[in-house]
Amino acid sequence: MDFNFTEEQGMVRDGLSRLVREQYGFEERRKAIASAEGWRPEIWAQLAELGILGMPFSEADGGFGGGAVDAMVIMEEFGKGLVVEPFIPTVVCAGGFLKHAGTAAQKEEHIGAIVSGSAVFAFAYAEPRGRYDYADLETTAKKDGAGYVLNGHKAVVIGAPWASHLVVTARTGGERRDRSGVSVFVLAKDTPGVTTRDYVTVDGRRASEVYFENVSVGAEALIGAEGEGLALIETVTDEAIAALCAEACGAMKVAHAMTVEYSRQRKQFGVPIGSFQVLQHRMVDMYTAYEQAVSLTYLATLRLGSDERTRKLAVSAAKVGVGQAARLIGQEAVQIHGGNGVTDEYAIGHYFKRLTIFDSEFGNVDHHLKRHVALS
Ligand SMILES: Cc1cc2nc3c(=O)[nH]c(=O)nc-3n(C[C@H](O)[C@H](O)[C@H](O)COP(=O)(O)OP(=O)(O)OC[C@H]3O[C@@H](n4cnc5c(N)ncnc54)[C@H](O)[C@@H]3O)c2cc1C
Repeated sequence: MDFNFTEEQGMVRDGLSRLVREQYGFEERRKAIASAEGWRPEIWAQLAELGILGMPFSEADGGFGGGAVDAMVIMEEFGKGLVVEPFIPTVVCAGGFLKHAGTAAQKEEHIGAIVSGSAVFAFAYAEPRGRYDYADLETTAKKDGAGYVLNGHKAVVIGAPWASHLVVTARTGGERRDRSGVSVFVLAKDTPGVTTRDYVTVDGRRASEVYFENVSVGAEALIGAEGEGLALIETVTDEAIAALCAEACGAMKVAHAMTVEYSRQRKQFGVPIGSFQVLQHRMVDMYTAYEQAVSLTYLATLRLGSDERTRKLAVSAAKVGVGQAARLIGQEAVQIHGGNGVTDEYAIGHYFKRLTIFDSEFGNVDHHLKRHVALS
């Protein structure tokens, strides 16, 4: 299999790597996540200017003709710098729904705005009691003339405080947890009846509880066919998982490198702690886990376009393998750093927090192990 990246992908990687290195240093990030806004819109504008936000869209949709491999390259660099700006919710999730099932009018309205950086999206799909089941919905969208009225509560909607728009899943028919009757809507966050309670997540991002109270939307808010949204949601969230795995790989790579470096600097009993074989073995185990995670991520990314079963098997395998690696590498990195590893002033603890939260996004290790077994 050819694992070489194209010249364009190499250029994207180099450009982003420079941006993250020069403008996304640990102290700058720390300041940004502690600020009232919690992110840097100027970085988002720069990403738009560099073409990053338009990379995974086809030229016909107003993008730069890339795809999932481009998203993987981008997210790996973001993972290295613990970038908090909402590329997955906006470009991969909202962009994915529009790309796969948007009408010409929806694409025209929203994809151009995503590419230019003027619209920021959050994907409101999880509910307090829904676990990782996308069909377990209490949020309803009742038919009202040509449009719908939304009611419900979505939990931990990542990036919602920064969003201008939301993509929302809601039940238009059937019973709770039925595979049919699930629909997807796109709407402006300032639509009357939408309220949010915003907060900081443990890994320094921002999220909201989003409430819908008699929110009226027109028929043009529906993405895809009414009641048949579940397969679409699974397609898009599998793409998001592959991108998320790439982000975790970037973060793991840096966490491992920082740990090796620390073990060379930190002296105990007059020698660097890295000279002790027991620590060397642990760092080798971290590296092996990282390499396996990268391979699983590549495979999942390349299988996103396969038939449903093949795609789901590869994506679940990646989410399990990367989840286990993220836990191992995060925990070993903190242990080997000793007391420094748990201080806010030291970067490694921030990598640990991001890698820990990775497991809970779009299904944890247990959930994807079960999905994999069920399909095997
Ligand atoms: C929340 C918290 C509370 C604490 N409270 C106290 C307290 O009340 N009182 C107190 O005295 N201390 C306290 N400590 C400090 C704690 O005792 C030290 O963090 C711990 O001893 C490790 O030392 P270090 O951080 O300097 O790590 P380092 O000495 O830099 O060690 C880093 C890593 O190298 C390993 N290592 C070091 N030397 C060797 C060796 N010779 N062979 C093999 N492996 C080695 C360690 O196991 C570790 O994995 C606290 C730490 C934390 C995080």
